[in-house]
Amino acid sequence: GAGVRSASSFKHEQAFINGKWLDASDGSTIEVTNPSTGAVLGTVPDMGEGETEQAIQAAYKAQQTWKMTTAKERSIILKKWFKVMMDNQEELAKLLTAEQGKPLAEAKGEIGYAAGFVEWYAEEARRHYGDVIPTPAASKRLIAIKQPVGVATMITPWNFPSAMITRKAAAAIAAGCTVVVKPAEETPYSALALCELAEEAGLPAGVLNIVTCSRSNAPKVGKLLCEHPLVAKISFTGSTATGKILLKQAANGVKRVSMELGGNAPFIVFDSANVDAAVAGAMGCKFRVSGQTCVCANRILVQSGIHDKFVEKLAAAINGLKIGDGFQADTTQGPLININAVDKVEGHVKDAVSKGATVVTGGQRSDQGCNFFQPTLLTGVNTDMRVSKEETFGPVAPILKFNTEEEAVTIANSSTSGLAGYFFSQDMSQIWRVAEAMEVGMVGINEGIMSTVEAPFGGVKESGIGREGSRYGIDEYTEIKYLCFGGI
Ligand code: ADP
Repeated sequence: GAGVRSASSFKHEQAFINGKWLDASDGSTIEVTNPSTGAVLGTVPDMGEGETEQAIQAAYKAQQTWKMTTAKERSIILKKWFKVMMDNQEELAKLLTAEQGKPLAEAKGEIGYAAGFVEWYAEEARRHYGDVIPTPAASKRLIAIKQPVGVATMITPWNFPSAMITRKAAAAIAAGCTVVVKPAEETPYSALALCELAEEAGLPAGVLNIVTCSRSNAPKVGKLLCEHPLVAKISFTGSTATGKILLKQAANGVKRVSMELGGNAPFIVFDSANVDAAVAGAMGCKFRVSGQTCVCANRILVQSGIHDKFVEKLAAAINGLKIGDGFQADTTQGPLININAVDKVEGHVKDAVSKGATVVTGGQRSDQGCNFFQPTLLTGVNTDMRVSKEETFGPVAPILKFNTEEEAVTIANSSTSGLAGYFFSQDMSQIWRVAEAMEVGMVGINEGIMSTVEAPFGGVKESGIGREGSRYGIDEYTEIKYLCFGGI
């Protein structure tokens, strides 16, 4: 109930800089609300450049000693951090649902996923080897060592308020970097809760700092996080538009960058597909977090021979979704993050209908509350509609009918985005052809959910730069230094 949500002991109303809980220097705050009910959960500091400067300085100072720790020492702390997160999974999930809106079961899943990155990089820290390079000269020996880049700054979104931080921060901290995070203004409490647990795990002051601010302060805080001379690296997850701003700013100081930006995932169902598996895959990858993930299917392309059967079964599955508050046990579809998101989704549906699409189910705002939109199925969609061209980031499944594999691949690749792509087929040669032809960073083949800490997450084209998670994710926070030993 409501009492539990606001009473969570993990809710910190102060930012975390250099191991201290702090208010904004001018005392200003922003409100954090529950997107399901509109209830105000509390406030966090609305910080600016002064506090950001303080956090960067603290991170820089801490890095001078953090980089001297052994991989095993860092690993031990990260393992403890993982453990205390998992010990508190339920409470952290409640805090997440309260500020983000996703169903509690999904929030619990996210905390497990978030903690999983901490565990994974606790392990990877100890296996981040350099190289001995065969020498071309008898008198020389050639070695490549890996060193932390330095202070890594991070700007993160609201759709995975915990995991999008640990996926970056655990890798950075494992590598010997220190971190300043600016979390999304909608979901700062999940971020701040991580600091409490990191401190409990023994992470020294200044290694993990969190600066909270309003959307109106984000541009100046973000600029400093990109341009400060003591910052080595900026890692961002969010919209492509914001990513482009940050990339330009990072260019001024030739900072290292990782960018996880928007997607426009194609989800292709070929005639040979197992229709039930394809429907299950589409449900998982379209309606998770109410369609608000960057790897959600955005365009569902269905071959003519299987089209009607797929649509019928998908409609039935969509009608089985339960829209409601994330704290209700049977809810599968929570609210969207805010009214702007609802307006955008409604705009996409209206645009599609005005250009000839048919609403099979849903199509309207929901009477659950002002941030809710009905899970929606559209057929007769074409490539001129906004649902095909833009990322909807909501619970709308638009179906485009196609005839040939070539046509499907052409449509799939006709996007400036290239994050995830999915297809369902039982034809082995087609599987190889299409997997290799898709211009994306990640391909789900007969699978709708593929994110896992062990696998590399990231995109091509305007979907981003770099990979997170997996053995590759730690490379984003290390430099390779070449040592040449002469006179041997
Ligand atoms: P969304 O519109 O879904 O919130 P954004 O890319 O705008 O996606 O937001 C992701 C993160 O980027 C949030 O933490 C937000 O505060 C931050 N952000 C937005 N605009 C800027 C900016 N100009 N500079 C720095 N950070 C920004």
